Amino acid sequence: MSGSNVENAMIPVTRPSMPEFETYVDMIRPLWESRHLSNRGEHVRALEEELEQRLHVPHVSLLTNGHLALETAIDVLGLTGEVITTPFTFASTTHALLRKQLTPVFCDINPIDYTIDVNQIEALITERTSAILPVHVYGNVCDVEAIERIAKRYGLHVLYDAAHAFGVRHDGRDIATFGDLTMFSFHATKVFHTIEGGALTFQDDRFVHAIHQAVNFGITGPETVESVGGNAKMNEFQAAMGRCNLARIDIEIDKRRRLVERYDERLRDAPFLRLNIRNEQTTSNYAYYPVLVMSGRGGRDRMMETLAQNGILARKYFYPLVTDFDCYTFDAIVPNATYVSDRVITLPLYPDMTMEMVDRVCDVILEGGNE
Ligand SMILES: *Cc1c(COP(=O)(O)O)cnc(C)c1O
Repeated sequence: MSGSNVENAMIPVTRPSMPEFETYVDMIRPLWESRHLSNRGEHVRALEEELEQRLHVPHVSLLTNGHLALETAIDVLGLTGEVITTPFTFASTTHALLRKQLTPVFCDINPIDYTIDVNQIEALITERTSAILPVHVYGNVCDVEAIERIAKRYGLHVLYDAAHAFGVRHDGRDIATFGDLTMFSFHATKVFHTIEGGALTFQDDRFVHAIHQAVNFGITGPETVESVGGNAKMNEFQAAMGRCNLARIDIEIDKRRRLVERYDERLRDAPFLRLNIRNEQTTSNYAYYPVLVMSGRGGRDRMMETLAQNGILARKYFYPLVTDFDCYTFDAIVPNATYVSDRVITLPLYPDMTMEMVDRVCDVILEGGNE
């Protein structure tokens, strides 16, 4: 490739990581014989076991996507009334609550790692509160100890949205093991993916059958339908992709780590940026590279434009806040979340990105950033 091609090539914000084509074909070839394409086939069962080992958690249930995993978790926990959650998240988290006729109560985030501010949760608890739904945003771990203490004291359920946090460990313990249930997304853009897909992880045996019923119409036998379940089954092609990707996940996370270290090295001293702080107790999965543009929304938007003019497609993730979506009518007062949302850009990051590409992004930011 000539130098000018490299200079002009577009850099997307993310790009799904893929196994070798032949590896995937070998994995799915037997399906043409067996014709067992869905309904807890060999690959779904195998991937559940492989993930239980990988995440050091007694139970993993696979679903067709992360969003339906959230809705299923809400059903299985029997949540009612109000749920305390974060405004700094993807639409799915809040939509899941509303689609299940629950009332989201927004707790502001802390300005350090952008997860739910545990010091503000208790003031929001009422007689109608049934659960807390925090998000390990960007793979940053929530204050899981404080959340557990509050949940115990008030008898609340805890459902974690860990869509960003596959493989993250906290104090040597996998993120999949906290709360009553933890949801993962295995969408193509996530660190580990099954094209589309999701999972619930948990310790309590009694959730196994409840989830199986919820994802397959409540059918429990050839002539028995025990509950009004929906359909959220993962199929064999998704699970086969997951098995191929799981075999390479450590290599992929390591590629991400090296790119993140390069970004850190290049951007650390830029006075107009604030980088994501990674906690000492946390083993990261390097899912995203968020930076805050300290001059505010105008400066952030100008930086987005400069990046776009240079073929670099960064993302304002998350802007607007869910509390400001046109489809809602909330009037939550969440100054920290608003502050971060007005300043954040997530920079391109994916395993196949090259160091030269990281340098190109950094060059554009460092040259244009002080305007
Ligand atoms: C991706 C994502 C989801 C939804 O997962 P899907 O698999 O896309 O349905 C939920 N919450 C957060 C924070 C996400 O990033």
